[in-house]
Amino acid sequence: MKKTIASLALLLATVLSNSALANECEIEITGNDAMQFDKSELTVPASCTEVTLTLTHIGGMTKGVMGHNWLLTTSANFQPVATAGMAAGADKDYVPEGDERVLAHTKLIGGGEKDSITFSVDGWDKSGAYTYFCSFPGHFAVMKGALKFV
Ligand code: ZN
Repeated sequence: MKKTIASLALLLATVLSNSALANECEIEITGNDAMQFDKSELTVPASCTEVTLTLTHIGGMTKGVMGHNWLLTTSANFQPVATAGMAAGADKDYVPEGDERVLAHTKLIGGGEKDSITFSVDGWDKSGAYTYFCSFPGHFAVMKGALKFV
């Protein structure tokens, strides 16, 4: 009986991972209590017209102490937007309000939480350089990476 359940679980896991691969325009990233994203690069097929990004905080700390979010800008705008985000403050999830340099962003989350966003990339320069980062004060120096269209 136990063996049957185990093989069913394995089958289910296989089915789930196959369906996750079915949509290549969906990407996932996690943040932890050690102030790290699990990926320093995310790739999306250039054929995608919209992208779904899911950020999961796999740690246990609250968002006031170790909050994470995911912002996307062109690489040229990364530093100034990170600075503007810090200035925007916790009430705004460290996202500068109405700032068109922010191409996409999740909300700020704490341990055990997740946020999923879908944004249009239609008409974007798919050969351009894009940087994602966490705008929680002090995090962007480490919590950053490149989003590439391939
Ligand atoms: Zn963070």
